[in-house]
Amino acid sequence: MGANKTAKATKVSDPSAAENPARKTTAPAKAAPVRKAAPAKAAPVKKAATARKTAEVAEAAATRGAPSARRKAPAVKPESRTALVRRARRINRELAEVYPYAHPELDFENSFQLIVATVLSAQTTDLRVNQTTPALFAKYPTPEDLAAADPQEVEEILRPCGFFRAKTKSVMGLSKALVDNHGGEVPGRLEDLVKLPGVGRKTAFVVLGNAFGRPGITVDTHFQRLVRRWRWTEATDPDKIEAAVGALFPKSEWTMLSHHVIFHGRRICHARKPACGACPIAPLCPAFGEGETDPEKARKLLKYEKGGFPGQRLKPPQSYLDAGGIPAPPLGAAG
Ligand code: SF4
Repeated sequence: MGANKTAKATKVSDPSAAENPARKTTAPAKAAPVRKAAPAKAAPVKKAATARKTAEVAEAAATRGAPSARRKAPAVKPESRTALVRRARRINRELAEVYPYAHPELDFENSFQLIVATVLSAQTTDLRVNQTTPALFAKYPTPEDLAAADPQEVEEILRPCGFFRAKTKSVMGLSKALVDNHGGEVPGRLEDLVKLPGVGRKTAFVVLGNAFGRPGITVDTHFQRLVRRWRWTEATDPDKIEAAVGALFPKSEWTMLSHHVIFHGRRICHARKPACGACPIAPLCPAFGEGETDPEKARKLLKYEKGGFPGQRLKPPQSYLDAGGIPAPPLGAAG
């Protein structure tokens, strides 16, 4: 949700290479599930159960054959559609075990707060938004209040979020549209949401999935990077990514899938230095090796060790729990 650092293409195993038909004559478009080297052992990731899970997965990967044998016989078989679907769903199941408490990391108490916070999260972190919105919602608790606000006062509140003038315009315009066209309520339909100022499909699906319980895929920067690394799709357009990934999973899994992928992107599979050597889904990842493979070095890249990841919530909003969300980990637990 929060826009973090822009994903950059890595030098090794660029999945986009498979998109080039010219290269298909010499290399397969898609590789079979990982046959590459895997970490000899994985770092403890969070709680004991997670650490055990990580170790088991890594151990399984480590027993797949000697490195020399793997070098001689690299994974060259194209992956069938069925195999892709199975691998994608298995990745999601593994991530669900690693992040059973995955949830939106923006603070909100109702759908209005969620849509405003999501709009504000463009080009900044959820942490920054969460530090900013309490003052905003204390002063302007309803769409009517925000629509009638003094823009300069709103700008001052939103200044820490960056692009504060444009964001002020967006959230005030959004509030006015809610008042004028929807009786001051956030609509629960995609076609209505995307007509609101500053609201694209990504924001709309965040709102639908987390405030209305309607399945949606959130294609943010983390999601785009990870699904391409996993070769779930070679598309680069967010709408095409959404359609391609949506076709791999039952609709009912879309919202939690989005949370799992984004959690993993924020904590382990970073844009610049993915922590491959401490990654619990390494055996399923064709991009293993794009990041640090040494388990000890990889552990140091994990962003939820030693005090947790900045911006991480320890407890999701009550409204989210009331809506059937996933319970948070115990207070003080890393992750
Ligand atoms: S951290 Fe490495 S092994 Fe794990 S998903 Fe990312 S690229 Fe794949």
